[in-house]
Amino acid sequence: MLLNLIRDKWIAIRRRDGTKERIAPWEITSDYLTNPIVTLDAPRPDFNGALIQFLIGIVQTVTPPKDEEDWEDHLHEPPTPVRLEEIFSCVAHAFELGGNGPRFMQDFQSLQTEELRIANLLIETPGENALRNNTDHFIKRGGVETMCPPCCATALFALQTNAPSGGAGHRTSLRGGGPLTTVVLGDGTESNTLWQMVWLNVLEEDTFLRTCGNPAKTAEEDKFPWLAPTRTSEPKSGRETNPEDVHPAQMFWGMPRRIRLNLDDCVRSICEICGALDSNCVRAYRTKNYGVNYTGPWHHPLSPHTRKEGIPVPVHAQPGGVSYRHWLGLVQEDEKRSREPSRIVHHFRENRQKAEDPFR
Ligand SMILES: [Zn+2]
Repeated sequence: MLLNLIRDKWIAIRRRDGTKERIAPWEITSDYLTNPIVTLDAPRPDFNGALIQFLIGIVQTVTPPKDEEDWEDHLHEPPTPVRLEEIFSCVAHAFELGGNGPRFMQDFQSLQTEELRIANLLIETPGENALRNNTDHFIKRGGVETMCPPCCATALFALQTNAPSGGAGHRTSLRGGGPLTTVVLGDGTESNTLWQMVWLNVLEEDTFLRTCGNPAKTAEEDKFPWLAPTRTSEPKSGRETNPEDVHPAQMFWGMPRRIRLNLDDCVRSICEICGALDSNCVRAYRTKNYGVNYTGPWHHPLSPHTRKEGIPVPVHAQPGGVSYRHWLGLVQEDEKRSREPSRIVHHFRENRQKAEDPFR
């Protein structure tokens, strides 16, 4: 198989002592007491923004806290990697990037459309982070020609999660084009871990199921839409997708764009995003319009909202969403701008924050 996003090591991270490596999602709590993972370390800030939402989404979907006590217990004593592997494995079949079955965040069917260069999967040009980390030399002028499977997976997730309007029938994300994402952060000291950043942004099971969406829709494809033929949205024959139509978890796994990576034409090459040598670098993909059209009062837990006639309307950022580094500022600004902060920020302030708490 090309890449399984649960079983394989593909997420770039940094440990407390500065060691950089790639992990499988369940390894997030590895070496927790001696040398824990403290941050994501992707080559682009929008990739870090996508990856933290990917991790929050997995944990929220498959192992949310049962109640407040359970949440608090696991904030400082996380589940072991062995336990997480066991739990995450139950959805591993939904996280294959390639193969003959359903492919992660790609259309259920092969698409008979013209091929696009893989560079078009990226929402924006390389960010400052790449320049600062001196990784920009991997990026050719004129665009990216080859992308390794981990970077493809991240770019796919980032595009489906932030999808800007892309012409007739190219649908925007579940939160509209370029939604603003705010998360609760630690206090920025060395005592914070990546696990804590994820766990701080996961709601208790009941609270999440009541946020938005239809908890009675428990079929796997109601959580992970790529496991079934796409609910297409052509003008006459298609349909809209309201919160009532699918499970709440689809808020993290929305798929407004119909996309298929071309995996028949992979090459051994340096990935022009991260610089890794990979024998399965992808060069092209196909896309088709009229993918899932999310309509109605969606209320994603990580986005601030305003209200229009009582209906929540997600706040939007500049194209490409919000940079990982800016999150703290955005959380603080919410109050000043009289926006309704994201559900997670609100929940944290109302139910979880304590006077002596180092998290904010
Ligand atoms: Zn790469």
